[in-house]
Amino acid sequence: MGTPMSALTKISNWGNYPRIEADVRPWPLQTESPQIARGMGRCYGDSALSTHIVDTRSLNHFLDFDAESGLLTVEAGLTFDEILQVCVPRGWFLPVTPGTRFVTAGGALASDVHGKNHHAEGSFSDHVRWFDLLTASGEICRCSRTENTELFYLTLGGMGLTGIIKALAFYLKPIETAYIRQHTLRCENLDETMAGLEAYGHWTNSVAWLDCMAGGRAFGRSILMLGESAKQSELTQAQSLNPLKIHSTKGIPFPIDMPSFTLNRFTVQAFNQVYFHKHPKGSRDSVVHYEPFYYPLDKVLGWNRIYGKRGFTQYQLVIPHADARKGLQEVLELLAKRKMSSFLTVLKIFGEQSENYLRFPKAGFTLTLDFGISASLWPFLNELDGVVERYGGRLYLTKDVRMNPDFFRRTYPMAQEFMEKIKALDPTGKFQSLQSQRLGIHA
Ligand SMILES: Cc1cc2nc3c(=O)[nH]c(=O)nc-3n(C[C@H](O)[C@H](O)[C@H](O)COP(=O)(O)OP(=O)(O)OC[C@H]3O[C@@H](n4cnc5c(N)ncnc54)[C@H](O)[C@@H]3O)c2cc1C
Repeated sequence: MGTPMSALTKISNWGNYPRIEADVRPWPLQTESPQIARGMGRCYGDSALSTHIVDTRSLNHFLDFDAESGLLTVEAGLTFDEILQVCVPRGWFLPVTPGTRFVTAGGALASDVHGKNHHAEGSFSDHVRWFDLLTASGEICRCSRTENTELFYLTLGGMGLTGIIKALAFYLKPIETAYIRQHTLRCENLDETMAGLEAYGHWTNSVAWLDCMAGGRAFGRSILMLGESAKQSELTQAQSLNPLKIHSTKGIPFPIDMPSFTLNRFTVQAFNQVYFHKHPKGSRDSVVHYEPFYYPLDKVLGWNRIYGKRGFTQYQLVIPHADARKGLQEVLELLAKRKMSSFLTVLKIFGEQSENYLRFPKAGFTLTLDFGISASLWPFLNELDGVVERYGGRLYLTKDVRMNPDFFRRTYPMAQEFMEKIKALDPTGKFQSLQSQRLGIHA
């Protein structure tokens, strides 16, 4: 990114697609033109893009902490990385975290992020007590479950369309150590993978890395990883020397944009084969630091460049329990039939849905698939949409870059109501993104 005051900056989010030129300015607002807030730009597509962008990262102060209740108050541009550095040594951890710690607290609220613990502990918004929002009228509103309630539920998962979150208060969880007691299991097919995620639902954290390229009897095989916060008594002698050790703040930079052909069916298949067999049959127990457990990808900074200059997208779907087995099978079969490969395929289980207007999670299974951008991708994803909708599912907005407005309205049951309320709140469309325009939320 260029300097904050520069006229136009080339900018994209994590998928490096689309890449646009925008007027990017630091907080506070400096224009009346349509604009959108942006934190760390870790959404994959166009949610944090607009012709005018408000970079919130200067809102990066800790404001308050109540050690009795664990209520932490921060400015919205503070990152999870920065919060962990301060809170872990004091015995506190984030209530919910996505697979990267390079997100801002405001971005986590606006996308209502979920982690490996959704089935047990809900999404980020479930732990938010209140936030301060700058709305289109220029007012700063304190929103909570008892104050400005409607605005509260419009903003949680509302993708920045209600205004700019300035500060928020959310509950941390106490931890005895910075380590995770991990149980790893090899699941030999899709039935075992899904049954494993369900059977181990009493574990707080669970996630399955899935080999989407395996066919025949190995179709849907995976490595299932379960985790609980470790107690002091469970640490090894070496770990006990510094039980509340923070993550390493150094990463390995990914040096170049890889040529777009580097990731193809054959390289993905080879990688999956090696990764799967690296794990012995059966199960294994270990105690690992939270960094490799929650943030394995953060070690390589800028790993998104592996997809080359054309960029990539992540297609994250959820399908409710009743039809999840059939739905997931169809999705994976379509992948094979169209000869598409996803480099990173992850399956998780969701608990109950929240009251947010734009809620993504619903009780069921959520699958993420990563695809490099290519001409053949768009018709293929339209086909996948058909499967997702047929089985009562929907797609995650913070990963989306191409959903069409009708599909959005049909699969998000409160979309229409959300749009009407946004219109009333912000009649001139002060806060809008390329995504909100594409989805027909803004004309
Ligand atoms: C490697 C990786 C792994 C991920 N894993 C997960 C996962 O497991 N679970 C999950 O849920 N997500 C996951 N994500 C997605 C990520 O957590 C979300 O996209 C998150 O919102 C990014 O935060 P950010 O600060 O970068 O926000 P941005 O990407 O900058 O913005 C995202 C949205 O939030 C809005 N926004 C940002 N700041 C504010 C503000 N202050 N006020 C109002 N609106 C604001 C933007 O307008 C935009 O609509 C992952 C992303 C990556 C790159």
